[in-house]
Amino acid sequence: MKVGRYDYAGQIDDWPALVARIERVLRAGSYVLGPEVAAFERALTDYLGAPRALGTNSGTDALVLAHRAADLGRGRRVVTAANTFHATVAATVLAGAEPVLVDADPATFTLDPQALAALDGRTLAAVMPVHLYGQPAAMAEIDAFAQRHGLTMIEDAAQAIGARHRGRRVGALGDYGCFSFHPSKNLAAAGDGGAIVLAGDPATVATRAARLDALRSLGQTAQNDHREVGLNSKLDTIQAIVLHDKLARLDAWNADRRRIAALYRERLAGLPLTFQHAPEDVEPVYHLFQVRTDARDALRAALAAAGVDAVVRYPVPIHLQPAFAGFGWRAGQFPVAEALARELLALPIRPGMSDAEIDHVVAATRWFFGASAG
Ligand SMILES: *Cc1c(COP(=O)(O)O)cnc(C)c1O
Repeated sequence: MKVGRYDYAGQIDDWPALVARIERVLRAGSYVLGPEVAAFERALTDYLGAPRALGTNSGTDALVLAHRAADLGRGRRVVTAANTFHATVAATVLAGAEPVLVDADPATFTLDPQALAALDGRTLAAVMPVHLYGQPAAMAEIDAFAQRHGLTMIEDAAQAIGARHRGRRVGALGDYGCFSFHPSKNLAAAGDGGAIVLAGDPATVATRAARLDALRSLGQTAQNDHREVGLNSKLDTIQAIVLHDKLARLDAWNADRRRIAALYRERLAGLPLTFQHAPEDVEPVYHLFQVRTDARDALRAALAAAGVDAVVRYPVPIHLQPAFAGFGWRAGQFPVAEALARELLALPIRPGMSDAEIDHVVAATRWFFGASAG
């Protein structure tokens, strides 16, 4: 039996209706920022409980644009976790700002708020929590730190659309919330896509939205009037149609991911592995279901032999990546991030996984550890 990580065709509900909507756009020729993009942006704001959203070409561009809109460029320092996807920190570097790292919490795998509190907040301009693997970061403590030092908050919510912290959706908790609709993410476009979500008082949101709207269109405020240098990074119209179609089913999909995660937690209990600890005040969306074991590579090989597509996310922490060698970080500096890079394995999790598939992953994992099927 093969257990895969994705079922893209299965995410499309009504093929003729979706194809007809795409055909309408192809015939009308309204290919860039047409009404479909605006309609999806409004649907996203309703879903998240945020006043404004702007579609971008990718999650990476959403992060870069948020940096630009918050004036996080040369001479400004942005702190995030040492264990994240490359793009989080690449965005800070692409914007010209300086990345600062803190280690992960060994239980929740998200940014350690105590390590953050140990930094001198006066040297920082912004904090960028990552809701890693679909689980909200320790937002109460991180927000308190940001407030105390007057820092901009950019949430990297690329993996966590729909997740809640104390009942509120992530991405609408800070100043800028950044999402990715890469096909691997919980809300998947048929290609690249992303969005920035704004929160705050109406006047601030309006000012930021106007600036971001220009920044995603080469800084243009009116035709041929470029007030600053921007990116060319808009959400594609066809992707907006696909995403709008899927958004209505996202909560059901995320609930199914939670159901599968609960089954894994229950049926893999007692084995020599640990899970991502979810504090009481978060509702994760399980972009990935991670197990932590010092036999990670052998477990991965055994699962691969059993047809189970388990993957390593991420094998090299930020501070040891060649692309960031210029920042002077060294091995041993963020020991939790390094241990997680060695010990985490993501088991397949996707909405609609069958009982037989879950049974197979559980049985193969238990067999590896010499335990009987549970
Ligand atoms: C996927 C991802 C991004 C980047 O999103 P893209 O749409 O692939 O550019 C940024 N941060 C995190 C944590 C991600 O998982």
